[in-house]
Amino acid sequence: MITEKLFDSHAHYFDERFDGLADKILCEEVFGKNVGKVINVGTNNENNLVCLEQARKYENMYVALGIHPEDCQYLEETPESEVAELERIILCERERSDSKVVAIGEIGYDFHYEGFDREKQREYFELQMLLAKKLNLPVCVHDREAHGPCFDMALAHPEVTGVFHSYSGSSEMARELVKRGWYISFSGVLTFKNAARVREVAESVPLDRILIETDAPYLAPHPFRGQLNHSGLTEYTAITLAEVKGITPDEAARITYENAERLFFAR
Ligand SMILES: [Zn+2]
Repeated sequence: MITEKLFDSHAHYFDERFDGLADKILCEEVFGKNVGKVINVGTNNENNLVCLEQARKYENMYVALGIHPEDCQYLEETPESEVAELERIILCERERSDSKVVAIGEIGYDFHYEGFDREKQREYFELQMLLAKKLNLPVCVHDREAHGPCFDMALAHPEVTGVFHSYSGSSEMARELVKRGWYISFSGVLTFKNAARVREVAESVPLDRILIETDAPYLAPHPFRGQLNHSGLTEYTAITLAEVKGITPDEAARITYENAERLFFAR
């Protein structure tokens, strides 16, 4: 059991799998238990607004707003006009004294599906990296089967840092990212029986650069794999991280919490 507060650095409470359930789960299983903070992460301009609306209801829920490489496939406006709209939403939010926006994301590349327009993904990714620089915000990067191109994008924008979420790349790439100021986030995948490679990567990343997350509603940790995930289950990822690092679960929770605070709130 973990008594320290947990920081879930990546979740999607607007997802339809949470329809009619989000508030109950957030009250009872998340903020009602030992989850200290949650970053609710948008994936297009429509759900960016829903994300914000949800965060408004919870003192300790913040948002990352962005356009996901999968979502961008279905957008008909130009990348320039979609990203201009994203900027407008963020600037409008930043005028409030209780602004919720702490990052741009999720953004990146997704090469998993056949037929996706990779050039379009690159345009969206690049424009949002430039926006992050302009607004001095960290980014949440989605890297699915696109490690090299994601790393290249990070290299091309040395003044922008952030987190590679639900990390699936190599130890070498993680090390190079850390050197350049990036953080590495591990999801419930860390607990999967067949994920020895991800645990090896976690072993090699310095503790002060590791975040934990759920990617809820997806990627529920073992023994809940395949079920609806929520931030309360971040605990299982923290316990596995503690085993990998040879520290106590409470230390894993406390250190990853401090790391997330540093990345999202100390700029
Ligand atoms: Zn996500």
